[in-house]
Amino acid sequence: MTEKNRFLNLRLGILGGGQLGKMLCQAASNWDIETVVLDPLEDCPASSLCSKYIKGNFRVFEDVAGIAGEADIVTIEIEHVSTEGLRYLREQGIETRPSAEILEKIKDKGHQKNFYKDNNLPTSEFIICSSGDEIKELISKGDIKLPFVQKLCRDGYDGRGVYIVRENKQLDNLLEGESIVEELVEIKKELSVIVAQNGFNEVRCFKPVEMVFNYDANLVDYLVSPAVIDQSISDAAEELAVNIIKKFGLYGILAVEMFIDKNDNLLINEVAPRPHNSGHQTIESCDTSQYEQHLRALFDLPLGNPEIKSPSVMLNILGEPGYEGEAVYQGLEECMKIDGVNIHIYGKKITKPFRKMGHITIVDNNIDKALEKAEFIKEKLKVVA
Ligand code: ADP
Repeated sequence: MTEKNRFLNLRLGILGGGQLGKMLCQAASNWDIETVVLDPLEDCPASSLCSKYIKGNFRVFEDVAGIAGEADIVTIEIEHVSTEGLRYLREQGIETRPSAEILEKIKDKGHQKNFYKDNNLPTSEFIICSSGDEIKELISKGDIKLPFVQKLCRDGYDGRGVYIVRENKQLDNLLEGESIVEELVEIKKELSVIVAQNGFNEVRCFKPVEMVFNYDANLVDYLVSPAVIDQSISDAAEELAVNIIKKFGLYGILAVEMFIDKNDNLLINEVAPRPHNSGHQTIESCDTSQYEQHLRALFDLPLGNPEIKSPSVMLNILGEPGYEGEAVYQGLEECMKIDGVNIHIYGKKITKPFRKMGHITIVDNNIDKALEKAEFIKEKLKVVA
């Protein structure tokens, strides 16, 4: 990277303008970073905050290639971008973080699992199958046994594209397309560890957080930071995350989702090479937010201190089931009155069932009190139409 890029007159291209892009722009606005966002929706969350909005589809080669004259470094806030476009950008001398090659290993869940296997990184057992029929055939031969988890190799997100199969009758509804069939892990806890690496191979890791799932929505319901786990598991989780980012050779941030199984083993579930839902709380509760850390890593600046200043609980604000249309927030003012409550509204005009409309980070030195406040907010705050 040229000296010019080190601190001043930085131009950052961001593929995707959702809430992660918006919060990245917020962090960038503290410094002299011009943000250029590519997204199909003119009213996407990041469009009103970025320095320049470009209407275009990040999945389409030409649209990604079109950002070439606009940025010195290009990053993503969603994995589903044209990697051909990323390759083209590199040919034009624009570094993309992540690179096309790393993203291709991650975007396809089959490639991602093979990467862990090839690098002796712990993950659940799996088989890659080309169709539902192949899964049934392997079941009849005894090569696959119920229960299992079927995951589409491509284009799944927020639990869509994941099917937990416990009974034979569910086999009529297998997902169609290439997929991985994984053993169903007996999960004690789900963790996420966010780790960053800059181009000087400096690596720093945030403390593991615990993700508590809403199984109806297949989304994280709330998140507890730091995770309530033994120190030895916490240390092992950090060590694993550091190992993974080094093995990928990734510059930027990487969110590593892991399971603790019933024997206290850590298993990697999946990674995301971008800011992540499980790092929202770093804005208020850590010395450096995941967004600032990503910027530091992207521009090869010294990485910031990821230490936790205060424990916190993060709650996604989801669209209430049964409502679709212009969003109305009920109970917001009552929630705002509570100490330690930090409200983020993404500015999406339309709500849909379980759509991520915002999030709340509750900082409190007493984690039980933070959880009580979270329960209250879950009852009070509704996004309806
Ligand atoms: P997505 O990429 O859509 O977020 P994930 O792979 O994270 O999908 O799976 C969503 C959720 O499904 C996980 O958080 C976990 O609760 C459950 N899950 C996924 N894989 C397994 C597994 N092998 N065993 C048990 N539960 C799983």
